[in-house]
Amino acid sequence: MNRVFQKTKIIATVGPACNTYEKLLALVESGVDVFRLNFSHGTHAEHKQVIDDINKINDEFPYKIAILGDLQGPKLRVGQIENDGIDLKEGDELILTNEEVLGNKERVYISYEKFYDDVKEGELIMFDDGKIEMKVKKRNDDRTVTMEVVLGGVLSSKKGMNLPQTKISIPAITKKDIRDIGFAAKERLDWVALSFVRRPEDVAALRVMLRDLGSEAKVISKIEKPEALDVLRDIIVESDAIMIARGDLGVELPVEKVPLIQKQIVRMCIHRARPVIIATQMMESMMERTKPNRSEITDVANAVLDGADALMLSGETAVGKHPTKVIKTMANIIAEVEKEDEIYHREDLKPQEHSPSFLSDAVCYRASRMAVDVHADALIGNTQSGYTGFMLSSFRPRAPLFVFTKTKSLLHQLSLSWGVRAIYFTQAESLDDIIADQINMLKERKIVSAGDVVVSTGSTPVAEQLPTNLIKVTRVK
Ligand code: PEP
Repeated sequence: MNRVFQKTKIIATVGPACNTYEKLLALVESGVDVFRLNFSHGTHAEHKQVIDDINKINDEFPYKIAILGDLQGPKLRVGQIENDGIDLKEGDELILTNEEVLGNKERVYISYEKFYDDVKEGELIMFDDGKIEMKVKKRNDDRTVTMEVVLGGVLSSKKGMNLPQTKISIPAITKKDIRDIGFAAKERLDWVALSFVRRPEDVAALRVMLRDLGSEAKVISKIEKPEALDVLRDIIVESDAIMIARGDLGVELPVEKVPLIQKQIVRMCIHRARPVIIATQMMESMMERTKPNRSEITDVANAVLDGADALMLSGETAVGKHPTKVIKTMANIIAEVEKEDEIYHREDLKPQEHSPSFLSDAVCYRASRMAVDVHADALIGNTQSGYTGFMLSSFRPRAPLFVFTKTKSLLHQLSLSWGVRAIYFTQAESLDDIIADQINMLKERKIVSAGDVVVSTGSTPVAEQLPTNLIKVTRVK
């Protein structure tokens, strides 16, 4: 293993630019912690090949790379459009229909049966990532809808469509998603992300589907709809992690609102010990170029300072020209910012008194602060459910954090979480043995050596498997 571990994790989307064993390994060695399979693209056979290659990397090297399956969700698109698209000018009218026609200047097909029922006159609809805007002018008797162009441009085949002002009646989980969820369960993916989450019930439904299929995958809610912001707290609580999907979020909301929403979501997630991912256009210019823009460097740095658990790359690694350079550049920026003490000394990060797990949260909090006071070389957590791992991480400890678990699915899942390195451990009988064995494991891996200080958390009586309830400080012999 020849890479440095950083606290802030990196997620790379897999695509044609990196989908071979050698290229995936090069990305891992450059700093990737999680690979994302985007189910909006590619076949199951193509994804399966990538999964096999990642599993092989995990088998051959001591990495614990997680795999995240990203469901397309109810993404709406226009149909095929003649020539290279139609040039729409402000004031033009266009009919949107559910009849599968080849689109032209008069009529364009959209794959949304209830469009006529759901929209109201005057509502704004965006196309092609918001480059084109139209207003609903009239709902017609033949169930078509006449639109008026507000912001013109060339509309071409299969472009996406966003309806920020419309109460969409399409189910959160589509037929395609159901097939992809089956695939994710069969291939034992670690995380599954749900796009366009609107309500906590959407997340709960996905979790039930995964459990019914025997999957232990954890669930990520992608925040990209204004409706989700109204019930954000409930969605965060219902989810295992959150992705701030700035691409669609910046289409559905005025773009200038995205930066503060990003900061607010990150803060809320850290306070609830839910990993939070910042996604989209972090290093977009590196799709073509070998160096990022200064503004992108600052965006990555600010995301680390905000406290994000993970930063995500999309096109940059999936179809860009320099995937490995992108990861190395991002890892270097992260390493530089992580020298800044501000990240580890956040006064606002305190256990929440109203939480049902307040006592064990308080122990985790104290352990991470004590690790600073005693200049610890390692902080150890023990978990079966993952809770203590995510909780210790949420206090953003400065000491390297090692989470021991016998729950195999967690070993990779925890790779998404800030600062965590997970280690497989089948419990010894007594707490003394557990702590000694774990420190010895770190010694064998040359993570700590004689004279180092380790802060361990655990629970006693061991047999009762209670939530974390104690802290021990050890000087390594
Ligand atoms: C986004 O919209 O920012 C996003 C991450 O979603 P997707 O890449 O699936 O469109």
